[in-house]
Amino acid sequence: MSTYAYPNPQAIFYQQYNAAKRDEVVGILLALFLGSFGVHHFYLRRTGLGILYACFFWSGIPGLLGFIECFFMPGRVREFNSIQAAAIAASLGIPVPGWPAGGVPPIGAVPGPVMGGPMPPVPPMPPAIPPPPPTYIAAPAVCARCQYSNAAGAKFCAGCGSALG
Ligand SMILES: [Zn+2]
Repeated sequence: MSTYAYPNPQAIFYQQYNAAKRDEVVGILLALFLGSFGVHHFYLRRTGLGILYACFFWSGIPGLLGFIECFFMPGRVREFNSIQAAAIAASLGIPVPGWPAGGVPPIGAVPGPVMGGPMPPVPPMPPAIPPPPPTYIAAPAVCARCQYSNAAGAKFCAGCGSALG
């Protein structure tokens, strides 16, 4: 039971939209199995293309095209439905339910629940950590005379004072 005693524009919209809209799966199946006769084009009211396919079904080309087109049917059905929704809403003088008032429905969009608000901002990527500079690990300079382990780079031995080579 409707909560409205009389049909409101939105209820009329959904009644007409549900009657006019096409099903993606049906569109795919028609293109796949009856594409030779252009039935999938008639389904989306592309009568001219449908007649063209039906006239050339004997050549096998429409069947091949139908097989290829079955992959495109979901998008075509969605576009068809969005056009139906816009036309019905325009005839009723209401915005398309589910779309923001005055908003232009995007191509391929279908009326549905409006997602809440804009997307949250994407957190900034942490700065890339540069690879550490190659550290030159010098071997300690071991004195040849006293075996004292001097700091790397030392010129003279800290143990005996002789020059390190
Ligand atoms: Zn030394």
